[in-house]
Amino acid sequence: MNTDRIENSGGINSSEKIGNSETIKNSSGKKSFGTSFPVNHESTKMRPDSYPDFGMRIYGRGKPVRLFVAGLHGDEWKDTTELLKNIKHPKTGTLALIPLVDCGKYISTLNQDYYPGNGKKILRAIEELKPEIYIELHSYSSENLEKLAGKNRLKLIGVPAYSILKEGVLLGSVSPWVRRKYFPKEALCLSFELQKGSMESIRFTAHMLEILKEIQSRDDFIEYMKKEFPAQAKKAIEDYQRFYGEI
Ligand SMILES: [Zn+2]
Repeated sequence: MNTDRIENSGGINSSEKIGNSETIKNSSGKKSFGTSFPVNHESTKMRPDSYPDFGMRIYGRGKPVRLFVAGLHGDEWKDTTELLKNIKHPKTGTLALIPLVDCGKYISTLNQDYYPGNGKKILRAIEELKPEIYIELHSYSSENLEKLAGKNRLKLIGVPAYSILKEGVLLGSVSPWVRRKYFPKEALCLSFELQKGSMESIRFTAHMLEILKEIQSRDDFIEYMKKEFPAQAKKAIEDYQRFYGEI
C-alpha cells in the first residue's frame, strides 16, 4: 500500500504531514520463496543479468504490451506474487510479468526514491517494453482502508483515494512518480490493493487480471468498467481528470 505523503503532486499545498503508517517489516521469506519459483522454459524469457532473484516472464508478442507487477515492497508479495505466477498467455498482444519486484524494506511507491531504488526492475521493464497497459498489485491491512479509500486521501496524502471495487479490492492509479514520467496519457496505469489475508480479495483480483490480460487499450477498460462497475468508473475518471487535468 502507499500511505506516504507525496510532494509536488499537482498543487497540493496542505501543510499537514502524515507518517508512513505501514509497519516496516523485513521479509524473511525471500530465500525459501526463491526455491519455489517455477520456470516455464517453453514460454519464459528469463533475464538473469538484470533480474537476479526472480525473472520477468514475457508471454505472447506484439501490441498491446501489458506489464503486470507484484510484490513491490515489504511483505506484500505474500498476497500478490502467486496471482501473477498463475496467469496464462494472453490471446493477443504481449503480457510481461514481474511476480516479485522487491521484498526488502518497505518504501512507499509515493516516495520518489522507490522506483529508482527498490523498484528499478519496474523502470527497466518499462523502458525496455514501453507498455500501454501497466498494472501494480499491492496489499493492505484492513486498518488502513480509510487512509487508502477515505475521501481525505487527496488532502492528507496528496493523491486521489482508491475506489472500493468488490471483495475488499481497491482500484486506483499508480504513483505519479512513475505515471507522469514514464507513460503517455493514453496508457492505462492501474494499481490494485488487495486486503491482506483475504481469499475473496485474491479470487476477485484473479478475475480482474483475467480481464486485464486481454484488454486492448485504456478505452477498452473504461468501457468494461462503465458496464460492470459504473459508480467506481465514474469516480476513477473524475479523480483522474482532477489530478492529471485530462484523460
Ligand atoms: Zn504496496
